This record gives sequence, C-alpha cells and structure tokens, in this order.
Amino acid sequence: MNAPICPNCGGPLTRVVDVPYGWWEWDEATGSYRACNAASRVDVAPWVHAACMGELRKFHPQDPIVPASAAT
Ligand SMILES: [Zn+2]
Repeated sequence: MNAPICPNCGGPLTRVVDVPYGWWEWDEATGSYRACNAASRVDVAPWVHAACMGELRKFHPQDPIVPASAAT
C-alpha cells in the first residue's frame, strides 16, 4: 500500500518528523543559519513531512491509514 499523500507538496509521506523546536536551514544570502518552524499555531508542534517540511496538523503516524482508493 502506498503512503498517504502530503497536503502541502503532494508527495508521499514516506518520512515524517516530530520537530517541537523546529530546525535550522543554511541561508546563503546571510551566511548564517536561519531558525525555521512549521507550526502555524503555538499550542502543539505538528508532525512535518521531511521532503517539504510542511506541517501535518491533522496527521499522526499511528492513526489508521485509509487507502487513497477507498477515500471519498
Ligand atoms: Zn510534503
């Protein structure tokens, strides 16, 4: 069965990460690291798709997976 699809980038959610403190990305323009966070709200940090680092607010990897062909 294929992995669920990311609502942010459309790619398969084959790797998701739990990043409560966000992550840091290299910024060539400033020559320094820039703090990043996917959370759009302040309550709970979301799971994040590793491919696009978009937040997955409704997602949890232990939720039952519904095959895309069965979804309506
Ligand atoms: Zn994605």
